[in-house]
Amino acid sequence: MVRRSVLIAAFALAATAAACASVEPITANAVLGVDAEAAPPTTEAAVGAGATSTTTTTTVVSGPATVGVVRIPVGGAPLASEPGGVPFVQAAQGILMGFTGRQGDWLEVVTTCNDIAWVDEADVEVTPQATAAQVPGPGFDVAQAVIVLDPGHGDRDWGGVGPTGLAEKRVNLDIAERVRDLMSASRTVDWATGAITSGTAVPAFGEVWLTRDRSGPNDGDFELGLAFRAELANAAGADVLVSIHNNTVPRIDTDIPGTEVYYSIGTAESDRLASLIYEELLRSLSAYDADWTGGELLGARARIDPETDDDYYGLLRRAEMPAVIVEGVYIDQPDQEALLETEEFRQAYADGVYRGIVRFLTTSDIGTGIREPELFPDDAGTVNSSACVIPPQP
Ligand SMILES: [Zn+2]
Repeated sequence: MVRRSVLIAAFALAATAAACASVEPITANAVLGVDAEAAPPTTEAAVGAGATSTTTTTTVVSGPATVGVVRIPVGGAPLASEPGGVPFVQAAQGILMGFTGRQGDWLEVVTTCNDIAWVDEADVEVTPQATAAQVPGPGFDVAQAVIVLDPGHGDRDWGGVGPTGLAEKRVNLDIAERVRDLMSASRTVDWATGAITSGTAVPAFGEVWLTRDRSGPNDGDFELGLAFRAELANAAGADVLVSIHNNTVPRIDTDIPGTEVYYSIGTAESDRLASLIYEELLRSLSAYDADWTGGELLGARARIDPETDDDYYGLLRRAEMPAVIVEGVYIDQPDQEALLETEEFRQAYADGVYRGIVRFLTTSDIGTGIREPELFPDDAGTVNSSACVIPPQP
C-alpha cells in the first residue's frame, strides 16, 4: 500500500492540534496551539483504510518495505528534497518519521514539519509497517499490538502553562513515556482496584512508538506538525493512536476531574476507545482531591466542523485507526498543576491510559458515557508555522 503524500502538501504548516489548544489564549509561546485548518479534507478518503486494525487482511510484503517508520540513528541522518539529492539538513538522532514511499534505496518521509523529504535507507533504522492487523476484542494478541502515543505540543508550542510555569508539553511527554514503560513489560491488572503490577496477564506490547521522546533532540522537546503525528501512526500501521494532553480555561466547577477524551468520527471504534480511556482515567484521577473544574461536558466527546462534517481536530481527521485526544486535567488551575507536578499523579494518569487501551484491545466493553458528536463552529483561525525547523544534529 503506497500512500501518497499529497495531503501533506495540502495541510503543510498545520499547527499542532489539541483539544485544549482551541481554548488556550494565543501567546507567543502557544501560537501554534490551534488547529482549525480551513482546508477541507481531500485525499484522506481516497487513500482508504488499508492500515487500520479493523481489517483482517494480512498483506504479504515481498521486497523492500514501501511504508513504515524510520528512526534517525546516533549521529543523525541527512535529508534531501529528492531521491539522491543534496542534503538540506542533518536531522538529529532519536527523531522518528513515517515513510510512505520508496525510489530505489531512498525512502519518502514526512518530516517533523509536515513536509516531504527523502532519506537513504542506509542512513536510518527502518521498521516496515506492521501488517498483521487484528480486530480489537477478545482474542486480540497484545504482544502483536502496535501503539502510537503522542505527547501533545513541543518546543515553542508549550500548550497550556500552569500558574507556576509548568508546561503542558513537558507533562504530556512524561505521561506518555510512563504509558510506554507500562507497555514495555508484561503486567497484571487488578480490575477491581485498578492496580497494575508486574505479572503475566497482559503481555508486553509489540511495538510502542512515541511521536517524540527524550531520546530525541533537546531532551524530547521539539516541534512536531499535526500531519507528521498522524502520518507516523498511519505508516506504523498502529492499532491505536492516543494523544496525551492537559486542558486550560475551564468553564465550571465540577465534583470530579474534568477529564475529556475526544474521539475520531472517521474511524470505527474510536468512540469505544475514548469511552474506556475516559472510564479508566477518571478512576485513577478521582482518587485525588482538588478543586476540580471542567467544560460544559465531560467524558468521551467528538467535535465536528460544520463546514466539512468532518472531525474538527486535524490529528483525528488524518488518523486511519481508532484515535483519541486525551485531556486529563486543567493545568492552569493551581491545585491541578500541583498534582501534575508529582510523579505519583502523572503515574496515575498513565495507569488510566494503559488500562483503557488494554480494555479496548482485549475486551468488547463499550464503556459508559459516549457522547454524540457536537458541531463545533469555532474558528480558531489559521496559524503560521512557517518557522518550523527540523531539529539538526548538534
Ligand atoms: Zn494540549
